[in-house]
Amino acid sequence: MGAGIVGTATSWHLSRLGHAVLLLDPCLASAVPKASSQRRLNGSTASLGVLMGHAFRRSSGRGWRLRQLSMALWPSWVSQLDHPTSPLSLQTPLAQLAASEEEAERMRQLAQARQGRGLRFLDEPALPPAPTPWPRPGHGALLSEQDGRVDPLGLMRALRRAFDAQGGTMQATTAQRLERSGAGCEGRWRVITADGDPLRVDAVVICSALGSSQLIEPLGHHRPMGAVLGQVLDLKLPNPQSSWKDWPAVLTCGGVNLIPHGDQQLWLGATVEPGTVADSSHVFAMKTLNKLAPPWLKDAECIGQWQGLRARPQDRPAPLLEHLEPGLILASGHYRNGVLLAPASAEWVGQQIDSSILTGS
Ligand SMILES: Cc1cc2nc3c(=O)[nH]c(=O)nc-3n(C[C@H](O)[C@H](O)[C@H](O)COP(=O)(O)OP(=O)(O)OC[C@H]3O[C@@H](n4cnc5c(N)ncnc54)[C@H](O)[C@@H]3O)c2cc1C
Repeated sequence: MGAGIVGTATSWHLSRLGHAVLLLDPCLASAVPKASSQRRLNGSTASLGVLMGHAFRRSSGRGWRLRQLSMALWPSWVSQLDHPTSPLSLQTPLAQLAASEEEAERMRQLAQARQGRGLRFLDEPALPPAPTPWPRPGHGALLSEQDGRVDPLGLMRALRRAFDAQGGTMQATTAQRLERSGAGCEGRWRVITADGDPLRVDAVVICSALGSSQLIEPLGHHRPMGAVLGQVLDLKLPNPQSSWKDWPAVLTCGGVNLIPHGDQQLWLGATVEPGTVADSSHVFAMKTLNKLAPPWLKDAECIGQWQGLRARPQDRPAPLLEHLEPGLILASGHYRNGVLLAPASAEWVGQQIDSSILTGS
């Protein structure tokens, strides 16, 4: 349930493993949008698709392991999903500007420890030439050769195509309620949809982000999540001579991603605003890069803007990957990293389903 990136990726992966998969989401009534725009978006269609796995600060724990697994899976996922009708590529590298000497020192140590993973610290990064030099906090930068981004809309199209080609079924409807089937019934779970169809299935995988809690609460599973809004700007550079020569696929400055696209455009994002109401002061702080914006960025014209909601688990770390009871699996609450973690989450769900078939649980 849920055809954002997590649900669609999981559906494709399960169908590759040989399972009969039905994917439900009202958003399947329309094609994946060509570009993100002002209209209401789920987390995935609002996302910037940044994959920051190797440059992650921690070196242990579940978050690190999930990132490592995803980063190992991404190249083969992209090559299997890339198709003439839904082209897909990984765009690398990613550079993070240090905001202070302290942060620069942490980055140096990280680069030292992870040389084999393509990390380097640049004390004096060779700045791309005018008219679009990088912002200059002046403390060096961490370059991660294998991190970068994937186009989230292209990814959604590629996943839908591959899932369909694999024999998966998509239905544009909302799952309204889940019921445990009685003993001896075919299928362990009944899914009541907005169309009124009661569907009988062996397993339910809930990938409905903010819509997940209300599906599992009546079954006795309390997993509250809060919305965290994110805004993105699409900027057009003032100078027709602008070029993105020597720019990485993603440049991060003070937590803001600068992503060049086209000849003269740049996505800038994303704000982190608890709640569902957008606040223009966050956009102002982002556009000025907290006073670090170079003149060309200040002068850039805003030609597009959008927002989306992330699902953040309350009182538990993101994401929520839990086998709640036999045949009821939660893969949700991916908060700020659902694109990055989609392959690892899908693998985890596949393992849960396969092991429950083996053990008959
Ligand atoms: C502005 C912004 C920028 C971001 N940038 C990045 C980034 O650079 N890198 C990164 O990794 N992550 C990023 N994220 C986070 C990422 O987008 C999310 O973590 C990810 O999209 C979550 O995917 P999802 O499939 O779980 O949820 P969603 O994409 O929100 O999809 C959930 C789907 O569930 C459906 N649904 C809900 N209830 C039901 C129901 N009852 N029945 C059926 N369907 C239901 C909804 O219609 C929806 O389509 C960003 C998020 C935002 C908002």
